[in-house]
Amino acid sequence: MNYDRRAYTAMRQIGAEKMVIYERDIAVDMGTSNTLVYVQGKGLALREPTVVAVDKVKDKMLKIGEDAKKTLGRTPANVVAIHPIKSGVISDYDMAALMLRELVSRITSFSLFKPRLLMCVPSSITGVEERAVIDAAIEAGARKVYLVETAVATAIGAGVDIKKADGHMVIDIGGGTTEIAVISLGGIVTNKSIRIAGDDLTLDIQEHMRRQHNIKVGEIMAERIKIGVGSALAELETPPDDFIVQGPSISTALPLEVPVSYQEIAHALERSVAKIEAAVMSALEQTPPELYADIVNNGIYLTGGGALLRGLDKRLTDKIHIPFHIAENPLHSVAIGTGIALKNRNRGLPYLLR
Ligand code: ADP
Ligand code: MG
Repeated sequence: MNYDRRAYTAMRQIGAEKMVIYERDIAVDMGTSNTLVYVQGKGLALREPTVVAVDKVKDKMLKIGEDAKKTLGRTPANVVAIHPIKSGVISDYDMAALMLRELVSRITSFSLFKPRLLMCVPSSITGVEERAVIDAAIEAGARKVYLVETAVATAIGAGVDIKKADGHMVIDIGGGTTEIAVISLGGIVTNKSIRIAGDDLTLDIQEHMRRQHNIKVGEIMAERIKIGVGSALAELETPPDDFIVQGPSISTALPLEVPVSYQEIAHALERSVAKIEAAVMSALEQTPPELYADIVNNGIYLTGGGALLRGLDKRLTDKIHIPFHIAENPLHSVAIGTGIALKNRNRGLPYLLR
């Protein structure tokens, strides 16, 4: 966190306008791994993996979301599965816009009115990246676009009155990035983003299976192992059963079957988890003392799919001596928080960026 960044956030806040909320406003959390759509008056309406399958030869979008994810690693040469969001920001503009348009059209198909879109963005987003989000939303059919930082949305979802001068720390461990933000008075005071998150843990597992067991596992299988027996601690109070991994041997291509324990996976994940832990410590070091005291009192909120890693909250609490709270539903909390913000329609949303 540097001074420029703080000035930038403050500037954006001054420029913020109040949004009066209507029925049918739509909030979108387009993350590296998952995209969630929240519709005012209806609640969480859609959740799809942020994946688009395209036919390279015909230059045509084939599938999005779950259907496209199923094709990962098993597509013919002309079909590619693309992740249009990398590290929380748009990396493939055309595909991100296509996916957004498809999702919005599923919700507004019978409506004549163009919706207003509230887009969640990471605190570390740059001006150029912000512009891309706004343009993609307009291309998807938005009448007007608003941006809200995911950390702010998470805090609202956790029931924090974010307009108070009370410091809160939110850690969002998504697919591509871990975002650590301190908020107070409805804005980001400090933020830190590292490119170590859920997908890196999945890669660690692939690498571990290759090295230790000579077995080849794809992204989907490695993620299943992570969810099944992933752990941030080598000692758990309620250990999960071993996970039976199936796959081809790297040397002979014959099918192999090996059971893996959570201790083994904890070991494989140790380096990445330690990096996340170090980032949290360094963010705390950079936090102004007044807010630091608030954070010690309030505890630290963990959200994003990575928050579900077994033992992570305990590991961090033991190490840092500040209580860590896992959001009620880490995979949905950003979208739900934005939805709660949308509900407070009469009060408006003073903390919107644009
Ligand atoms: P994003 O906001 O970047 O789309 P999400 O918050 O949806 O990310 O989280 C996705 C990440 O969380 C993925 O890397 C996924 O593998 C991971 N994840 C989901 N469930 C679990 C779980 N139970 N344990 C550990 N990691 C998980
Ligand atoms: Mg996210």
